[in-house]
Amino acid sequence: MKPVAVDWFQREQVTPDLIRITEKHFDPVARANLWLLSGRDAHLLIDTGLGVSDLARYLAPLLDKPLTVVCTHAHFDHAGGLANFKSTCLHCHEADLMRRGDATAALARPEQGFNVDAYFSELPYPGFSAANYRFRPCVVQRALNEGDVIDLGDRALEVLHLPGHSPGSIALFDRAQDTLYSGDVVYDGELIDKALGCVPEEYATSMERLARLAPRLVHPGHYHSFDTQRMQALIIDYLAGRRESGCPGLE
Ligand SMILES: [Zn+2]
Ligand SMILES: [Zn+2]
Repeated sequence: MKPVAVDWFQREQVTPDLIRITEKHFDPVARANLWLLSGRDAHLLIDTGLGVSDLARYLAPLLDKPLTVVCTHAHFDHAGGLANFKSTCLHCHEADLMRRGDATAALARPEQGFNVDAYFSELPYPGFSAANYRFRPCVVQRALNEGDVIDLGDRALEVLHLPGHSPGSIALFDRAQDTLYSGDVVYDGELIDKALGCVPEEYATSMERLARLAPRLVHPGHYHSFDTQRMQALIIDYLAGRRESGCPGLE
C-alpha cells in the first residue's frame, strides 16, 4: 500500500522571476515541468501538471498579480490541472479536445502506457489509482494561434505553433531574454512521436524551425534546462533517427 503524499508539488527558484514546479511523486521520466514566470503586471503559468492535487491553491501564496495559464498542449501531464484555473490559454487545435475532456487524446488512459500506477511512488489522495484518474474538461478562455503574444507588462512571450508531438503543441518564446519554453517539442530525453496524435513529418519540420531559431536557453516540458548547443545536438539526433527509420525526404 503506497503512502499518501504530504506535499504533492515541489518548487525551485530558478531566477528571481522564474520558478520551476514539479510533481515529485510522479515518475521522473514522466513528470512535467511547470514554469511560473513573473512580469510587471501579471504572472504566467506554463503547464498545469496532472490535476490530481490543487495547483491553484498551492500557487496562491506565490502570486501578487493576476495569473494567466497556458498549456503547451493538452496531454494529461501538462493540461490535467487546467480546469482549476480561470484565465486559460491553449492552441486552437486542442481547445475542443479540452472542452470534451478527451482522455484518449490526452494520453490519460492507463492502457496507453503513460498514466500507470507504477509511475506514482506516493498517492495524491487516498484511494487514487491510474484507473480512476479523470482528465477534467474545461472551456479554454483564449484559443491561441501562431504569432499570438502573451504580455506580462515588461516582458512578452510569443506563441510558436510547433506540431508533431501533438496537433496543437506550442512553445513560448521570450525574445528579449532569448529563452524558449519548449513544452514537449524538445527536451533532453526520449521524444515522443509515435503516440496517438503524433505526426513525425510535422515534428521534423518543427525541429528544423527550432534549429533556425537557436534560442540561447531552453526551459523544456520535461527534464533539465539546456543551452542552444545541447538543443542543436538533440535536434540533429532526432532528425538522424527519423532518417534511419526510412524518411529520406527529411534530408
Ligand atoms: Zn506531450
Ligand atoms: Zn509531457
